[in-house]
Amino acid sequence: MTDDAAADFLADVRAFTRAHVEKDAASWARGEALDPAIALQAAGIGLTRIEVPVASGGLGLGFRAKVRACAILAAADFGLAMSLVNTHNVAKRMALTAPEPVARKLLPDLLQGRAAACTALTEPAAGSDASAMRCTARPKDGGWLLEGEKTWIVNARHARLAIVYAQTAEHGQGAGIAAFLVDLTGPGCERYPIEAGFSQVSIGTGGFCLNQCFVPGDQAILPAGTAFKAILDEINGARIYVAAMCCAMVSASLRLARDHGERRHTFGKPLNQHPTWREPLARCATQLAAAWALVEAAVAATETGADTRHLAAAAKVNAVSLAQTQLPAMLHAMGAEGLRETYPFARHIGAAQIAALTDGSTAMLLDRLAGWDPAPVSL
Ligand SMILES: Cc1cc2nc3c(=O)[nH]c(=O)nc-3n(C[C@H](O)[C@H](O)[C@H](O)COP(=O)(O)OP(=O)(O)OC[C@H]3O[C@@H](n4cnc5c(N)ncnc54)[C@H](O)[C@@H]3O)c2cc1C
Repeated sequence: MTDDAAADFLADVRAFTRAHVEKDAASWARGEALDPAIALQAAGIGLTRIEVPVASGGLGLGFRAKVRACAILAAADFGLAMSLVNTHNVAKRMALTAPEPVARKLLPDLLQGRAAACTALTEPAAGSDASAMRCTARPKDGGWLLEGEKTWIVNARHARLAIVYAQTAEHGQGAGIAAFLVDLTGPGCERYPIEAGFSQVSIGTGGFCLNQCFVPGDQAILPAGTAFKAILDEINGARIYVAAMCCAMVSASLRLARDHGERRHTFGKPLNQHPTWREPLARCATQLAAAWALVEAAVAATETGADTRHLAAAAKVNAVSLAQTQLPAMLHAMGAEGLRETYPFARHIGAAQIAALTDGSTAMLLDRLAGWDPAPVSL
């Protein structure tokens, strides 16, 4: 696919975000349900097909296009961006590794926005330490019986399909973990929504219990021995788009604060004529530039096939911590006005807390970074 194709796609994402996301995000934050047409429109412009190969009905675009699409969406609503990219990632995984009859049966609904999907590792007693998962998969009559619970999962409250990671061997063996494509609407599965102090509607957070849930053998899409490594690689890429999403939320907030500073007057002049008011914006812009640069470095390294484990972790830790500190600062610069629900500040602050946990929590990533030497020159 050409750069023009990616540019056209991103123009569509911007138009979709202006028309459908910015308008409704405040109502989702109040807990109102999404119009089902949103998923269809998102899929219509390709948001569930970005990296899916053209031969499988996808756009065949690269990782950079996915990162940018996530950023554009997250500037308006982090939750919807996470929801769509999670469905997209399952569609991509199915296109690449599911047996052809399974992909033919289940993939079109994801690509066309008629169904959502999720990726489920986390359990009530296994979060940061995913390899400690208790969900089991045991062979049975040409398939597998899955037993266990997954919780705090993007899209789980409404998804039709899940890629469920489950232990086929003894508890605690990473090499025993395999991945199964599970129909969450079938027998043996009970889904539930999870709510929080800030709305989980657009991200679709939920969980599900699998009670001797039968999965046909051809829906065991990643075997034990490769599944855990495959998901760790996928999560590494996710860190980069989550970092971009955090940068985008801060960029959107900085622009809003800057506009407000031109219009709002105190002590006889616009806010932006007061040096002390401008300083936090200048600090925010400076740190934001560094955070975007780190995201770009991680994207560029991904494109060359380099090992991005440290760069991705650093980009995410840096962007999350930027969002956690600068979003409240930008809200403060707005005065009381910034608290109105028409502005995204409060939603973005909640989203930054979610970003700090998903796809590797800040604590886990810092652990990895303690041994990293990023100096680009020989000293
Ligand atoms: C909205 C939302 C959506 C999510 N979506 C998904 C999804 O789609 N799929 C999925 O599989 N999971 C998902 N998660 C789960 C997410 O991956 C976990 O929250 C994350 O792995 C942390 O696990 P935990 O919440 O159980 O925290 P815990 O593991 O209980 O840790 C609690 C705190 O202690 C810290 N900590 C843990 N161990 C250490 C240590 N050794 N040293 C120092 N600090 C430590 C953690 O960083 C965290 O701050 C989602 C979470 C949220 C909030």
